[in-house]
This record gives sequence, structure tokens and C-alpha cells, in this order.
Amino acid sequence: MSYIVALSGGIASGKSTIAHLFAQLGVPIIDADIIARQVVEVGTPALEQITKHFSQEILLENGELDRGQLREIIFNNDHERLWLNNLLHPIIAQETQKQFAQQTNPYVIWVVPLLIENNLHQLADRVLMIDIPEALQLERLINRDRISESLAKKMIATQVCLTDRLAFADDIIVNDGDLESLKIQVDNLHKQYLHNLKVKNSYE
Ligand code: ADP
Repeated sequence: MSYIVALSGGIASGKSTIAHLFAQLGVPIIDADIIARQVVEVGTPALEQITKHFSQEILLENGELDRGQLREIIFNNDHERLWLNNLLHPIIAQETQKQFAQQTNPYVIWVVPLLIENNLHQLADRVLMIDIPEALQLERLINRDRISESLAKKMIATQVCLTDRLAFADDIIVNDGDLESLKIQVDNLHKQYLHNLKVKNSYE
């Protein structure tokens, strides 16, 4: 099994951009958001349980989960949010472990936005956190999603703050420069990870 490097950071901190740079170096990427969607695809046991719990009304006409409606329900109801979390967390963890086990590269990048919020860092061997000044994060979020400043501020405020996030980091990428400076940091980390693994494996 590969060594798992969890890549996390706040919204619009640069997770996708950084994952893309690792992918260009040939590092496989596992995306927690994609797994979270896969486990509730049509025909999955999780979707069946969700339909049983919330009725068929929770489905779109094509049989897929109506994510917008579900989001609204759990946003307004702690009890339902807990129910859903209890259902999905073990299933997501199991699917994640399965995808980890299929990897053959020395290491993989696991992009996981809610690493700290969902207590998932134990699944990783190493945590790579993105550090970004809040003003720049706000600016990039507004530009990317074309939303108002007040909504962008609210979205950032609901997340774990940067200081708490960085406390979990083994490595930090500072994304306050241009793409070239990001690429240099990714290249260096890539070399470091491969080197660490070589040293580690030579002792095993
Ligand atoms: P996340 O995946 O964490 O939400 P993204 O990778 O989508 O964040 O980055 C947010 C936005 O900022 C995107 O529009 C991206 O192109 C831009 N961006 C990220 N890093 C940089 C950078 N170093 N220089 C310029 N733009 C950047």
C-alpha cells in the first residue's frame, strides 16, 4: 500500500491547483469529494437507506440523490445531520481505505477538504496543509465562484480557522505567490517525500 499524504486547506486555498501540480509529477490523486459522491450513486446501499429514511422525495426525477434538498434538510436539522453523518462516515472511510489499498505508487495525494472537521487525519500517514492569508483567500474565492464578498466571508467563517488547521500539519505550502512559486514548493515536497520513503524503506 502507498504512503498517504493528505492535502487539505480552507475553501479556495489552492487544493485543486496543488493536486494538479502533484498529478503532473505522476503522483496519483484520490479525491475525498469524489468518494463522497460515489458512495451515494444510484444503486448503492447508502442511497437506499437515505431514500428509506427521507422517502422517495429526496430523489431527483432521474433517480439520483437531490443533494441540494438534502443539504438544506441537514443544514436546518441537527438530528438529521447526525443521522446522515453516522450513516455515511463509516461507508466513506471503508471506500477510502479500499482505494488506498489499490495504490501501487510510492505515495499518493489524498485531497480532503474536511480533514480536520471530520477527524479523518488518522487515515493519513502525513498531513500537508495549505497556508494562505485570509485576504487573498477571500479574493480568490470571490473571483473563482463569482460571489459577493459577504457570502464569501460567511463561507470562510464557517470553516476551521487557519491556526487550528496548521496545528495538524506535518508540512505546509504557503500559497501567497504566483503559480511558479507554488510549483517550486510542490517539486521540493515531491523530492522530500520520495527521499523520506527511500530512507524509511531502507530500514524496513
Ligand atoms: P480549492 O481547491 O482549495 O478550493 P483552488 O485550487 O480552486 O482552491 O484555488 C482557488 C482559486 O485560486 C482558483 O481560481 C485558482 O485558479 C486560484 N489560485 C490558486 N492558487 C493560485 C496561485 N498561486 N496564483 C494564482 N491563482 C491561484
